[in-house]
Amino acid sequence: MSDCIFCKIINGDFGTDFVYENEFAVVFKDINPKADTHLLVVPKKHIESLNEVQDKSLLGELMVTVKAVTEKLNIKSYRTVINTGKDAGQEVFHLHIHILAGEIKL
Ligand code: 5GP
Ligand code: ZN
Repeated sequence: MSDCIFCKIINGDFGTDFVYENEFAVVFKDINPKADTHLLVVPKKHIESLNEVQDKSLLGELMVTVKAVTEKLNIKSYRTVINTGKDAGQEVFHLHIHILAGEIKL
């Protein structure tokens, strides 16, 4: 989607470094970290939120991505968060999973 910030990041428009990437998703650092380590797992396909997911297998691939990136970075203890909808604090309407580790300031 052309006006979506995460689609632009995925497209390489801002030169954002990807901590991890596979067929389904990219992982990059949150610009406003709420923990010592704060990563975002973002599907390459634009889906507004969990409410719009139709491809259930994608959800598995995203969790596998969480496991792969935490293993790669040797993060053993972490919190995953998915904000769904404005009232729950979702600010970017492109599905993403937060990974928070270390001291978490939420
Ligand atoms: P949400 O509140 O939608 O669950 O989370 C959106 C997250 O995206 C926020 O934690 C925010 O800091 C992060 N974010 C927003 N814009 C950018 C950006 O341009 N680059 C990066 N790396 N993170 C962003
Ligand atoms: Zn998008």
